[in-house]
Amino acid sequence: MTADTPGLDTEFYAIDTDASTEEFLAVARVYAREVARNYDLSVAVDDLDWEVSKRARRRAGAVRYRDGDPETLSITWKVFTNRGWGAAAETIRHELVHVHLLNEHGDPSHGDRFAEWAERLQTPVTCELFAEPNYWVVCRDCGSRMARYRESKLVKNPQNYRCSGCGGRLDAREND
Ligand SMILES: [Zn+2]
Ligand SMILES: [Zn+2]
Repeated sequence: MTADTPGLDTEFYAIDTDASTEEFLAVARVYAREVARNYDLSVAVDDLDWEVSKRARRRAGAVRYRDGDPETLSITWKVFTNRGWGAAAETIRHELVHVHLLNEHGDPSHGDRFAEWAERLQTPVTCELFAEPNYWVVCRDCGSRMARYRESKLVKNPQNYRCSGCGGRLDAREND
């Protein structure tokens, strides 16, 4: 791993996709606490309501907020069941960036601040779920499939990265 592509600084929390929603959310919160601590995010994991959405179709996850205060962090269930823990973990990181920027700046957008954090946390800038991504980044070990819509550094150089779910090696391919 080279200096300009540092690995994501987290432990790995492998969880099989036949886990219950309760098991998933328990792991998600432990993981979120560690990400928040390692990256100094202003996220009070246990002050948020955590839920999975079995209805969401268009979004991988969401943060609901009131008066600028984040209240609920929701992860779309099929992201986990269809694409694996690695894909769910990057969605969790995406939503944690939203919580952080809401708390620090009242900013719910995917603007420049978001893009910087997304780069640091190896997560996409978009949380929309399109039916067909342009690329798949696939973990050789746990089989997680991370959707990518543009030719990012991760897509170009998957060997410089590791699966954020299990630490496994990654391959990238066009989705054709
Ligand atoms: Zn988002
Ligand atoms: Zn993996």
